[in-house]
Amino acid sequence: MKKRVLITGGAGFLGSHLCDYFISKEYRVVAMDNLITGDIRNIEHLFSHPDFEFYHHDVSKFVHVPGELHYILHFASPASPIDYLKIPIQTLKVGSLGTHNLLGLAKAKNARILVASTSEIYGDPLVHPQDEGYWGNVNPIGPRGVYDEAKRFQEAITMAYNRFHKVETRIVRIFNTYGPRMRLNDGRALPAFIGQALRGEDLTVFGEGNQTRSFCYVSDLIEGIYRLLLSDYDEPVNIGNPAEITILQFAEEILSLTQSNSKIVFKPLPADDPKQRQPNIELAKRILGWEPKVERAEGLKTTLAYFRGLDKVDLYKPSLNF
Ligand code: UDP
Repeated sequence: MKKRVLITGGAGFLGSHLCDYFISKEYRVVAMDNLITGDIRNIEHLFSHPDFEFYHHDVSKFVHVPGELHYILHFASPASPIDYLKIPIQTLKVGSLGTHNLLGLAKAKNARILVASTSEIYGDPLVHPQDEGYWGNVNPIGPRGVYDEAKRFQEAITMAYNRFHKVETRIVRIFNTYGPRMRLNDGRALPAFIGQALRGEDLTVFGEGNQTRSFCYVSDLIEGIYRLLLSDYDEPVNIGNPAEITILQFAEEILSLTQSNSKIVFKPLPADDPKQRQPNIELAKRILGWEPKVERAEGLKTTLAYFRGLDKVDLYKPSLNF
């Protein structure tokens, strides 16, 4: 009998890739999404599949799923800084109330639950690279606090359900990830730069561009998450690509990849923007036998081809439709 998995945020960037992955591994997949930042087009191709179901629902409200569930993957959340500035309360709710609802569902169904945490729980880190033992440097009341603190609460309540209710839990700390199905106008560096290059606009580098990030291609991330889900390790695990780059270098890479004549312009650095970010993935290597395989040059090529294939109107769409 095929196992049945609930994927929240199933119409989003990572959620939709998870839906594809689990269908390809012969699971029955229930995707749930309120479509605030998700896009039904990401999963449209799955609707005719007999093992795929979709629920249009906000997981911050009571979650009811009839029938058995073996696994739950909680990936519902706005994940881009400009989104959580626009919808701060929903961001807080989905990481806290939403997680609580899904932990309750996991307990009721006797299902194993994996929650999507983030490198943002390390805040603007004072330890580099970041390993799982680092407790972070987060401003609770800054603009990013709504996301960071919701995710920190999520980790706390997940461990509480693990210890108190003996629910089988997994926590993945996801570092910057990219690939097809990112929203072109979600404001994050990669889609922002590619969108600007495709529209013939200047690329907006924030600050002096000497802040760093480490970008992981989506297929590597999904593989790491799957291995973690099936592992017996219940404490947080970093999944990301340690190949670190400054944002200025990254903008230059996108200019050369797109062969654009755009220039780079500098804009003010947003509040609390982390200066350095690079995952230490020794734990994932050791316990999951996992490490990323896709080089940035290759991943960026595939991602650019995806963005080039979108409708022209997507290029000019606002980040959120309200
Ligand atoms: N960034 C930038 N220009 C943009 C968008 C983002 O220079 O148009 C910078 C941003 O300030 C940050 C980095 O790129 O330092 C990565 O930002 P992103 O929003 O992609 O993700 P974050 O890792 O900050 O959550």
